[in-house]
Amino acid sequence: MIETKRVTVVEHPLVQHKLSYLRDKETPTVHFRKLTNEITLLLTYEATKDFPTEDHEIETPLERMTAQRIHGKKVAVCPVLRAGVGMLEGVLSLVSSARVGFIGMYRDEDTLEAVQYYSKLPTDLVERDVIVLDPMLATGHSSVAAIDKVKEAGAQSVTLVCIVAAPEGIEHVHANHSDVHIVCAAVDRGLNERGYIVPGLGDAGDRLYGTK
Ligand code: URA
Repeated sequence: MIETKRVTVVEHPLVQHKLSYLRDKETPTVHFRKLTNEITLLLTYEATKDFPTEDHEIETPLERMTAQRIHGKKVAVCPVLRAGVGMLEGVLSLVSSARVGFIGMYRDEDTLEAVQYYSKLPTDLVERDVIVLDPMLATGHSSVAAIDKVKEAGAQSVTLVCIVAAPEGIEHVHANHSDVHIVCAAVDRGLNERGYIVPGLGDAGDRLYGTK
């Protein structure tokens, strides 16, 4: 695993193996969807690894012992519509009590700016660790706009989980939100003239939902 203070690239063989299938243009929608959730589950495992634990007295069938449980953490997970929704189950399968907020964002194909069209967030984000889901951190505009939104709603602790990141996107997120930890499966070479990550995996929304 490559870890800098604010970017964690999860190089676990399972993540990289699954990512290679996501990148492959021959991978059909049904597999793409499943792999996206599986990778997200593994990224969530890393994203939550610093959650503090506390002692908890329990009784096994054999004897009493002091076990560890997560200390009072509350989590909210906020997928950016529409592709981020493809990652949601992956998080919820590990953190089933998380509240869920949705942020609708589309990319203006001319300016590559993020345009927000929907937002429905839990009211108590101030008390929660917020995980924003955006599979492709390309220019970073949609992620920054989503992070702006959750912070405006009170979030103090935000982690951005994406699958593939471009250096430009990482820079843009950290220029605007230096406190945000980015967890991803790969940092690719860069962006092409249409704002797609290269080599990337194409349009994550289209591949998840079979719209192209
Ligand atoms: N969004 C995608 O789905 N793919 C990219 O490569 C960039 C943005």
